[in-house]
Amino acid sequence: MKNIDWNNIGFDYMPTNCNVRAYYKDGAWSELEYTDNEYINMHMATTCLHYGLECFEGLKAFRGADGKVRLFRADENGRRMESSARKLCLPVPPVEMFVKACYEVVKRNIEFVPPYESGASLYLRPVLLGTKVGIGVKASHEAMFFVFCSPVGPYFKGGMKPIKVIIDRVQDRAAPRGTGDIKAGGNYASSIFSGEKAHQLGYSNVMYLDATEHKYIEECGAANFFGIKDGKYITPKSPSILPSITNKSLRTLAEDMGLKVEERPVPVEELASFEEAGACGTAAVISPIGYVFDIDTEEKITYGDGQTVGKTCLALYNKLQDIQYGRAEDKFGWTIEII
Ligand SMILES: *Cc1c(COP(=O)(O)O)cnc(C)c1O
Repeated sequence: MKNIDWNNIGFDYMPTNCNVRAYYKDGAWSELEYTDNEYINMHMATTCLHYGLECFEGLKAFRGADGKVRLFRADENGRRMESSARKLCLPVPPVEMFVKACYEVVKRNIEFVPPYESGASLYLRPVLLGTKVGIGVKASHEAMFFVFCSPVGPYFKGGMKPIKVIIDRVQDRAAPRGTGDIKAGGNYASSIFSGEKAHQLGYSNVMYLDATEHKYIEECGAANFFGIKDGKYITPKSPSILPSITNKSLRTLAEDMGLKVEERPVPVEELASFEEAGACGTAAVISPIGYVFDIDTEEKITYGDGQTVGKTCLALYNKLQDIQYGRAEDKFGWTIEII
């Protein structure tokens, strides 16, 4: 393993041995190429730079308690990138190519997968760019796909801690028939203003509401939302929510734990009735929500004492991490061992 201060890494880019790339041109994908070059070279009139014809993914590999390195649900990320590419009219990277690229990146950077004890992991960032050169607004029939990785520290240093979120209607993240359901960089562009405002006010995330009526919960920052009450795991359903793979996994685990799973519109007024609430995504798995403030109505909601992680959030978190770190049997076949 590399000589890195594993206990003190954050969520930043760190150079590794290599990244992998493939190019789409004349109707076909190239073979995967491996390089230590951290730069990409492109013409200034490349379409992704002007019109946002870009999408990405985020997933992790973990060094387990048994020393084995496991990649978590890469096929799901591959399928999601396929749907992102289709909606952006970009060449579609086949799932097999996507998974192979992820596997190879981990394998070729295996000494950058943090040691088990550190609670850290290797973050993978697959990216798809429309690379056609031109200034007209049209689909790009040329593309570049690449995957790089970087070791990242545990999201919550010193254990999970409930977060504070703000409901702010100053900006909508995604429109019902827009690109909210795909992982396009543009969705992040349209949430940066409200996100920065929330940080200035001391909140870690913005709770985004539906853009039509501002009545229903959509997402919590760049993470999905879920609430727990009456033995149920409840998560919003909407055409402008990004289908989180963490949320999908938690739904399976919740059912496995005997909870009933509901996917349906969740009105803002329902927030106060939840026993526990959380945001979920690859970065933190679960960020338990301790406090919600609605900036327009000035309503305040506190879950428990606002400081303690609820028991269902903790149980779900542990169940998922146990699979990721190889402490529990992977009975759903979610991980690939890197050998
Ligand atoms: C990436 C992302 C998520 C989380 O998805 P995971 O697959 O669980 O990492 C949730 N919401 C948005 C808007 C995202 O971009």
